[in-house]
Amino acid sequence: MASSAISATPTPSFIANQKDLRRFGFCSTSQFSIHKCKKSAIPIKIMSVMTPQQSERRSATTGSVKTALTLTEKILARASEKPQLSPGENVWVNVDILMTHDVGGPGSIGIFKKEFGENAKVWNREKLLIIPDHYIFTSDERANRNVDILRDFCTEQNIKYFYDIKDLSNFKVNPDYKGVCHVALAQEGHCRPGEVLLGTDSHTCTAGAFGQFATGIGHTDAGFVMGTGKLLLKVPPTLRFVMDGEMPDYLLAKDLILQIIGEISVSGATYKAMEFTGTTVESLTMEERMTLCNMVVEAGGKNGVVPADSTTFKYLEDKTSMGYEPVYSDEKASFLSEYRFDVSKLEPLVAKPHLPDNRALARECKDVKIDRVYIGSCTGGKTEDFLAAAKVFQASGKKVKVPTFLVPATQKVWMDVYTLLVPGSGGKTCSQIFEEAGCDTPASPSCGACLGGPKDIFARMNEPMVCVSTTNRNFPGRMGHSEGQIYLASPYTAAASALTGYVTDPREFLQ
Ligand code: SF4
Repeated sequence: MASSAISATPTPSFIANQKDLRRFGFCSTSQFSIHKCKKSAIPIKIMSVMTPQQSERRSATTGSVKTALTLTEKILARASEKPQLSPGENVWVNVDILMTHDVGGPGSIGIFKKEFGENAKVWNREKLLIIPDHYIFTSDERANRNVDILRDFCTEQNIKYFYDIKDLSNFKVNPDYKGVCHVALAQEGHCRPGEVLLGTDSHTCTAGAFGQFATGIGHTDAGFVMGTGKLLLKVPPTLRFVMDGEMPDYLLAKDLILQIIGEISVSGATYKAMEFTGTTVESLTMEERMTLCNMVVEAGGKNGVVPADSTTFKYLEDKTSMGYEPVYSDEKASFLSEYRFDVSKLEPLVAKPHLPDNRALARECKDVKIDRVYIGSCTGGKTEDFLAAAKVFQASGKKVKVPTFLVPATQKVWMDVYTLLVPGSGGKTCSQIFEEAGCDTPASPSCGACLGGPKDIFARMNEPMVCVSTTNRNFPGRMGHSEGQIYLASPYTAAASALTGYVTDPREFLQ
């Protein structure tokens, strides 16, 4: 692989127009370099802060595969029982897990029944997972009916993993109910290295944190997978993101992925795999790796992937008894491009309305007055996200200046918020710290207002407000009102902003 300063060369296929080209302009704070690989020629001037070399990686196991492949290619080769394959090739892949939920499920079930017959059985009752999570705590009849459709189907098909909720008045009396699918999948041990996991949700890519191929698919594809356990997939080329350097203690993985999306734009990884490596990535917890992979789809990525390591294996220890076989990119694997970041030089970021690549330093937005803060979702509603927010509130000793809504992703996260002690707090739980800071009481676990939804969904933006949110999308109308303005941020930045009523760099409270 050539490591070179890049000169002006032909426009790569993913830069579609002048607007995209503008998005590739570098800001003065860029800590970024790009390495041209033999398959690509990218017209970007380097403002390079070179980083230490990537730490030594374990050699890959290729099984019957003889040519050098990336991690993603290797999973798809094995899943399609082919000794070799190349990006752009269409292959029939055996699916390990198919996940669907209350928004994607009914349509997929309808297609399955239409195409395979009213009395057809799904290909594997233990590999189809059904997780109601989106519009749960609502009186909206159509939303409730969607969950009823899932329940009837699971009964009919004797589905093993249906995380049902029947009593909406108290989620705690529903032991099967989990909450947001992507976090529940990990917590329940359904994410395993080397496997193929598909889901009727664009953020299914979250599971790539476990070193597996995970991507979102539509209803038609899901209906087909329900009947056959297979899907025809085009092999994506891989972009490699190498992040090295010590992570400053005011940054979180959300800042890293906002940095990357800001650099490559919302179309910069269209139908490409995004592989994350480097010493910083190796130091991240599984939940932080999930945040990283969760947002690859905001850059158009087909999937994101972090090579499995001891952190992965330890996380899985008490979650699954099923065997799995991790795979790794071969040393001579061909990457479309390689991007390098020195994480030690990055600063807390936000994505301003109305695109996830509308990156700005949090401190550059200090004059933006906000109306509310939202901490939740598959991106920013995990246990560690709440611990991070609590750390900022505890460090400040102050009260929030705007309504601050907390929506734990799952029932387990909710329990953690009420039971785990926050390090350095003198024995307080997150919930105690949130109460002292004047936050809203943590809500029932679900997707909440991340996707707007029916008007009575908790914390939905029913007015044209300005919100700092730990979610993943800031498109117009995403959290409810079409004129709402959403600033995407890490839990640190969200908590700091709640304390001032303005978009705020968390260093104001953490240093
Ligand atoms: S939390 Fe938001 S982004 Fe995640 S699955 Fe739910 S609606 Fe989608």
